[in-house]
Amino acid sequence: MARSLLCATAGQPAGYLRYDGVACAPVRARLRLCTSRLAEHRLLRHEAGVDDRCRACGAAGETVQHVFLECAAFDAARSAARTALRAVALDLDVAAIAGVAPDSAADWQRAVLHDATATLTLAVRARMRL
Ligand SMILES: [Zn+2]
Repeated sequence: MARSLLCATAGQPAGYLRYDGVACAPVRARLRLCTSRLAEHRLLRHEAGVDDRCRACGAAGETVQHVFLECAAFDAARSAARTALRAVALDLDVAAIAGVAPDSAADWQRAVLHDATATLTLAVRARMRL
């Protein structure tokens, strides 16, 4: 995940702190700070014995990109999130997963972004123990 997502708007609280509930906000924080239990982040911390294969499908490396945007294990939740975001002219990407809306997004679009991605985020959290 790009480090630039950590402070998308300097001096402003991160959007996930304003819009997310208590179940989703810590997950987004761990993703933004690269401290989740995903293999990508565990390898960044130089943990020993990390299997970098996706624990959900085993078909690819366990990265934020793969798990949230490509992994077949989360197709249903991802599809629902994409549909909800398209309805408000936003895209599902790593920034959206991290709770970062485009600068041009209106407040209501930001709220939809967080609602739309929360289901996917919580599905991944439950399966991957993030
Ligand atoms: Zn996978």
